[in-house]
Parts: sequence; C-alpha cells; structure tokens
Amino acid sequence: MRKLLYILLAASFLTSACNKNIQQLSKKNQPKNVILLIGDGMGLSQLSSSYYYKKSEPNFSRFKHIGLIRTYSSSHKITDSASSATAYSAGVKTYNGAIGVGPDTLPVETIVEVLAKRNWSTGLVVTSSITHATPASFFAHVKSRSMSEEIAAQFIDSPVNFLAGGGLKYFNNRSDQVNYLDKLKSKGFIVDTTGLAKSSSLNLQNKYAFLLAQDAMPTMQKGRADFLPNATQLAIDFLKQDKDGFFLMAEGSQIDWGGHANDGQYVITEVLDFDLAIGKALDFAKADGNTLVLVTADHETGGFTLASKTIKVPFKGDISDYDQFDESFSTGGHSATMVPIFAYGPGAENFTGVIENTAVFHKILKLLGVE
Ligand code: MG
Ligand code: ZN
Repeated sequence: MRKLLYILLAASFLTSACNKNIQQLSKKNQPKNVILLIGDGMGLSQLSSSYYYKKSEPNFSRFKHIGLIRTYSSSHKITDSASSATAYSAGVKTYNGAIGVGPDTLPVETIVEVLAKRNWSTGLVVTSSITHATPASFFAHVKSRSMSEEIAAQFIDSPVNFLAGGGLKYFNNRSDQVNYLDKLKSKGFIVDTTGLAKSSSLNLQNKYAFLLAQDAMPTMQKGRADFLPNATQLAIDFLKQDKDGFFLMAEGSQIDWGGHANDGQYVITEVLDFDLAIGKALDFAKADGNTLVLVTADHETGGFTLASKTIKVPFKGDISDYDQFDESFSTGGHSATMVPIFAYGPGAENFTGVIENTAVFHKILKLLGVE
C-alpha cells in the first residue's frame, strides 16, 4: 500500500514538473520586445570582413540561429532598399522604390503601426537621413523613395516614439517653407539637433527626435564615432520603460554606400560600427531574457568579395597571395545574392533555413501573438 502511495506521489510530482516545463517552454519562446538590426547592403563578405578587421570576436559569433534570406522584389530579381525594407516592415513583396506601399501603390500597414495600436512603443535609429528608404518604409507610405519631404511630413503623424539619425533639412528647410520641427514639437516630441541625451533624462511620457545632421550622418571615416551604438543603447534604455513591450529598428545605413562607392575601407569601417550596435542589443537581450534580436540585411551591395591579392613574384609571374585581401567589387549597384539573418532570444529558432524577406514580418507578429 505504502509502495503504491510512493508511486502515485512520484507520478504526480513528475506530471507537475512536466507541466511547469511546458509553461516555461511556451513563455521562453514568446518575446516581449523585438530589436531588428538591418545592415543595409550587408552580404556575407561584408560581415565576414569583421572577422579579419576587428581585434576581438565580432558580435555575429553570439548567435546560434542563422538563416538565409531571399531578397527579390515584385518588380525585379535584384531589390532596392525601399522594396526590401517594405518586405520587412509590412510583409509584402513590392516594387523597387516603394515605401510602405504594395505593388498597387496603396498603403500597407507596417509593424510600427500594428504594434503601436496595441500599446508597444517603437523606435528607429539610423545613420542615414530618417527619410531614407529603409527607415521610411517603417512609418511612411509613398509611391517613390525620392519623396523625402513628403516622407518627413508623414513622420509627424506616425506612431514612432523615438528617432535618432539625420535628415534635419527635410523638417526645417523645406520647399514648402513649413517648419516641421514645430509640428513635431506640437505632437509631443522633444526635438534635439545637437546630440544624444542621457538615458536617465528620457521619460516614456514624451517622444524624442534626435535629428543630428542636415541629411545623412557623417561616415565612420569622417568622425561619426560611436553614434550608432550609443543611439541604439539610448533607444533601448528609453523603450524598455514600456512594460507592454517595444519594437526597435536600428540600421547600419552606410554599409550600402561603401558598396556603391566600391570602397572597401568604407564598407569595413561601417560594418565594424554596426557590429558594436549589435553588441548593445545582445547585451540588453541577454540581461532581459524577453527580447528577440534579429540582424539581417536588405540586400547585398557591390558584389563585394574578400578576394586574394594578385602579386608579382620574380621568375614566377602573377600568383594569388592567400594571405592578403584585394577588397574587390563586381558592380556599383546591388546584387541578388541571399543575405544572412541572425536570431537571438525567445523564438530565435524560427529564423533558420532559407526564408523570404516578407516572412520575417509575419514570424515576428506571430511570435508577439498579434497575427
Ligand atoms: Mg538603408
Ligand atoms: Zn543601395
């Protein structure tokens, strides 16, 4: 009889332990916050360069779940940043140049808009102008990426709570002579055009716009210093005050521009800076435990390769030196090569395999329980 009692006790203990495991598992796989980091134009060679040019281990090594993304647009085999960013922001394949609109040029609801309706706070951090294709696709809806002033105008009515980057002139030096900085302030934004604030001074009751350059932020080579990692950290420190959760998109905007310029050092210095921003996101996610961090690219730029250098050797002629790089490019434009996606945190296992750029949006919303 006593033996039976022991068996029953053991069985009930095992069942409750098991239930607890199931509860932990489902909670473990559902993030509260999402940080999406986009390296514009960052293909495998671009990110590989961080392993040769950074003195310590790159933050890319901290991810266990990695996938590959197909980037083609609805109009072209090779996408541009507008179309690919709209795929990430709204889950639809659209045409090159489209900002937050579908192939029919009609607005599509973005993740920022979907989550803001459900009380998430949202932020955007970029090293380009905030009106540039990647960030614009998260809050604006225009048929062409070139409509910078209209994009700035639409920001006023967007639900974004935090912005850091360039693009001041699209707000205060416009062809319509309207001062959109005043409009930003009237919508509850604290606007700063001089520098980032201290984390401790930011309050969730307010919204913040740090517009720190007329157009793009300076390049790393021209002294941007630690703006991107610092702005990413500041955005996190602000947004984490929201107990409902937050969504942050931070972009290494200029990796792409180094590719367009076929300038290897431009690419590499921008990738190394982007890696530091990734580190800030991962440090927070590790401590927080409820944050999904995704790192990806919109497309590859330049057909960049870390090719072996051809050197002349007496009596042998030209040979490939496998210990020296000739940072080379095959195009001044974009390429169709797949780009990587790295995932860390609850739900990270959903971002492996070969996936469409549009799937990222749907996977995030499903994980957050809103789709
Ligand atoms: Mg971009
Ligand atoms: Zn580009």
